Amino acid sequence: MSGENSTILVTGGSGLVGQAIKTVIDEEKKSGLGAGETWIFCGSKDGDLRDRAQTEALFDKHKPTHVVHLAAMVGGLFHNMAHNLDFFRENMAINDNVLNASHKHNVSKVVSCLSTCIFPDKVTYPIDETMIHNGPPHSSNYGYSYAKRMIDVLNRGYSEQHGRSYTSVVPCNVFGPHDNFSLQSSHVIPALIRRMDDAIVSGDKTFTVWGSGKPLRQFIYSLDLARLFVWVLRYYDSVDPIILSVDEKDEVTISEVAEAIKKAHGFHGEIVFDTSKADGQYKKTASNSKLRALHKDFEFTPFDEAMRATVAWYKENRAVARK
Ligand code: NAP
Ligand code: GDP
Repeated sequence: MSGENSTILVTGGSGLVGQAIKTVIDEEKKSGLGAGETWIFCGSKDGDLRDRAQTEALFDKHKPTHVVHLAAMVGGLFHNMAHNLDFFRENMAINDNVLNASHKHNVSKVVSCLSTCIFPDKVTYPIDETMIHNGPPHSSNYGYSYAKRMIDVLNRGYSEQHGRSYTSVVPCNVFGPHDNFSLQSSHVIPALIRRMDDAIVSGDKTFTVWGSGKPLRQFIYSLDLARLFVWVLRYYDSVDPIILSVDEKDEVTISEVAEAIKKAHGFHGEIVFDTSKADGQYKKTASNSKLRALHKDFEFTPFDEAMRATVAWYKENRAVARK
């Protein structure tokens, strides 16, 4: 899309990934990049995308030529376990409305967001892009997973029936500034950052991590994911999904995550594990070899550095962070 005059609508623009894309685009603009691109970042206050009429109104208002579709009901393991039906229904409605409105408004390209947690539970490792529909997802998040898988079905349908270039990316776990730090619905990194901050304020001597600490995860810093998202929008031209993840060698245990947060927070207490709480999927190790083949020189921010920046952001923005 380089050189064109384009209007890019970012759904979910107020969230973790949306705000990271905004930061990257604002930085680019300062150096004169992205000329001809107008970026619009929308949150749910701009329109409830579960509602078809509100979705249509948003597209009528902004007339996008391109869409980055991030909006979704999103949450960590424990929120998913308690709300599988809501995750399925809300995300099915949002995705059908956004992709249908994109087609009706002649949007030339849409990049939507899947996740490495939607892959089959029983699978061979590393997971790759061809395996999305190969078996049932983990029982903890089947609602979110099936709804996300249907984006790939919609993309193929819009391509086959209407020649549309609607595609998807598959990020691993994401973290960074502007995350959701709520005690009820957050993912593991924002949950531990917030809970450890509260523990420091209360002068606690121990800190409890839920589950055994043994599950493995790949974590991408939101600013790195944002740069890759922008690259996909501009240069990746296939309906097939592409995994946007750190390398397999950078997979870490939840216990190692807790240690990294402890270091970044400067917490001196002891970390203990509550094994009565669920572990979720043991691992979902994904291969980024497709990304590495197409975007050879991309450099990921080291995990500890990204963690320090995220903890610092939380401490500076405690009062306004989503909690
Ligand atoms: P997030 O911080 O929770 O942001 C979600 C965004 O969706 C917010 O902008 C929210 O608007 C918007 N939204 C939710 N329901 C909406 C509705 N009914 N109508 C309009 N907008 C609505 O989530 P995120 O982590 O940035 O996730 C972005 C995308 O990445 C999602 O598609 C998610 O599935 C995917 N993803 C996330 C992770 C992760 O670890 N976080 C991993 C893999 C994939 P408000 O701010 O107004 O609520
Ligand atoms: P997932 O990667 O999709 O499973 O989702 P999460 O980001 O919620 O990570 C879940 C993993 O972190 C599980 O192994 C949990 O047992 C572990 N975990 C440890 N403490 C917490 C916590 O306070 N909140 C959450 N969400 N997960 C935690």
